[in-house]
Amino acid sequence: MAGGDAPLEALVSPVAAAPSRLRCRSCGQADLGPVLDLGRVPLANALLTAEHLNEPEDRFPLELYFCPQCALVQIGETVPPERLFRDYAYASSFSDTMVEHARTLVEALIRGRSLGPESLVIEVASNDGYLLQFYQQRGVPVLGIEPAANIAELAIKTKGIPTLVEFFDEELAGRLAAEGKLADVIHAHNVFAHVPDPNRFAGGIKWLLKPHGVEKHGRLFLATERAFESADPPPVIKDFWKAAYASAEV
Ligand SMILES: [Zn+2]
Repeated sequence: MAGGDAPLEALVSPVAAAPSRLRCRSCGQADLGPVLDLGRVPLANALLTAEHLNEPEDRFPLELYFCPQCALVQIGETVPPERLFRDYAYASSFSDTMVEHARTLVEALIRGRSLGPESLVIEVASNDGYLLQFYQQRGVPVLGIEPAANIAELAIKTKGIPTLVEFFDEELAGRLAAEGKLADVIHAHNVFAHVPDPNRFAGGIKWLLKPHGVEKHGRLFLATERAFESADPPPVIKDFWKAAYASAEV
């Protein structure tokens, strides 16, 4: 192109001139703009073996967007959950600290919520059963939901934790609710920031919790995220660090 007569716009690549825009995955606000581009990164925990070191490694864009309507920070491109979680390399029981924390938490909840043989505790992303094992040891029925088949197998075979090898969403929650599998306590630790559709996830939690008045223990949704310590899924989701999707748990 002859530079002299070309309008300035013609010298700027179409991508740079019109950075990608997207719609907020929680509140639906249109036209979000990127605020930080961390480039293309490999998946967390997807460590290469020596024989693969010289082969091309899959990388995915880690571009952050901020929603001015609900303050949700989120990534622009979702890595397919099947790609991320079907063969997962992180077992929670690797961490003695996490297991001890789980034991202490379970003791407090059994005591504080008067949980017993008539109760049901569900954990979404139950990993290898590091937490549910402590309920089971105390005679509280449990159900794990874990999409990583290799990790779920650990829970089932080594700890005897009943575990569904599925992704959690409203559809699965509806099926469980129809079977009468409603929970007194739902744990969802370190998972919410990984889900592609936070509203469907929160909607599933609502399905699965026992309603007020049916159980004396009432409803409890326990999560590590402070914003989700209530039973009702908030229409607006704040402080949700979606970038952890691809880079957390390193
Ligand atoms: Zn939003």
